[in-house]
Amino acid sequence: MRPVDLAVVGGGVLGLAIAHRAAREGLAVAVFERDALGAAASWAAAGMLCAAAEADTPGPFFDLLRSAARRYGDWVAEVEADGGLAVDYVRCGTWVVARTQKEAARVEDRIRWQTAAGVRLERIEVAEARRLEPLLAEDLVATWLYPDDHQVDNRRLVRALAAAAARVGARLLASAAVERVELGEDVALHLPDRRVTARRIVVATGAWPLRGLPRPLPVRPVRGQLLAVERVPPALHRIVVGSAGYLVPRPDGRVLLGTTVEEAGYRLGVTPTGLATILRGALSLAPALADAPVVETWSGLRPGSPDGWPILGPDPSDPRVFYAAGAFRNGILLAPLVAELGATWAAERPVPLDLEPFRIERFASGSTP
Ligand SMILES: Cc1cc2nc3c(=O)[nH]c(=O)nc-3n(C[C@H](O)[C@H](O)[C@H](O)COP(=O)(O)OP(=O)(O)OC[C@H]3O[C@@H](n4cnc5c(N)ncnc54)[C@H](O)[C@@H]3O)c2cc1C
Repeated sequence: MRPVDLAVVGGGVLGLAIAHRAAREGLAVAVFERDALGAAASWAAAGMLCAAAEADTPGPFFDLLRSAARRYGDWVAEVEADGGLAVDYVRCGTWVVARTQKEAARVEDRIRWQTAAGVRLERIEVAEARRLEPLLAEDLVATWLYPDDHQVDNRRLVRALAAAAARVGARLLASAAVERVELGEDVALHLPDRRVTARRIVVATGAWPLRGLPRPLPVRPVRGQLLAVERVPPALHRIVVGSAGYLVPRPDGRVLLGTTVEEAGYRLGVTPTGLATILRGALSLAPALADAPVVETWSGLRPGSPDGWPILGPDPSDPRVFYAAGAFRNGILLAPLVAELGATWAAERPVPLDLEPFRIERFASGSTP
């Protein structure tokens, strides 16, 4: 294989999104994916694009999520046009709900700074919320509507991204595990059957470390289980988020019920305890789903970082290496922004955002705690 401008290790949503953008910039790009493209966390996710529900405090992380959310509509249109595949992107809005006064007070705290930051949201009387969304539980004590939140079918998204990246000229190699990276005069990727050289490399390996980098990648797997039920009347129109779980109504007629956050190593799997936790939480939000047929259960490994924030930006000692890692619960949401950052860096232009809070060197030792 000829040398490339940009080698991307990892064919999840982040690797594919950067590859697509960089190939659009005219760079020679190759993606190396150990398994099938888009089959790890990016396949398993719930596809919620709810920036405000994910940040507990104002600051750079919240700004990062919002900045990604603002890009979503245009980015998805570009991916759909380039790839020729729909991704079921829907601006559906989110109900944030509280089941106790204590929970309501916590949400109100968050709402104060979010309102000041310009997030559109509205407190709606529970009776009115239940009129609009009859599936919601009767015993909720407070409900808020975030009308601008959105969702995407992440499985369709990764398929569309792969098609889009290929159509604009990126080479996508599945079953191509990178065993190690060698940072000499060239950037070299060692695969079992070949050695490939590149000018620059993006590390987008999700929950997995990669050998040969200037420092250990401080990521770890954080398992999440999900289940899907068939929609039963009355219909659910918006995402519902409570402290014990969430519900995501998909355009294809399923409702996703989530989730668990487990330190279970690299073991995938759905467990009775996991399902019981999810069902307890989800049915407390919408008890009428109790009789809906279960159509699928699955799990995935979120790429966790020591502080829960993503790891983004070039390596401090070798600027030919760019990290797009540790996206934890937000990789689907972050994709349009990470695509832009990675592709701009690959094209050797200044990155249009202060990445200081997200750079790998914030972890003093650079190793997993
Ligand atoms: C249950 C669950 C629910 C979630 N819900 C949401 C949500 O609602 N909204 C949201 O924004 N995010 C959500 N997430 C998080 C989101 O899925 C991740 O943050 C995102 O998918 C990370 O993308 P990635 O490309 O970094 O990783 P991945 O999709 O895991 O891709 C990494 C890829 O790298 C490959 N790889 C690793 N090592 C090598 C190597 N040496 N050589 C070649 N290839 C390699 C892997 O095989 C893998 O395919 C959820 C995650 C889970 C598990």
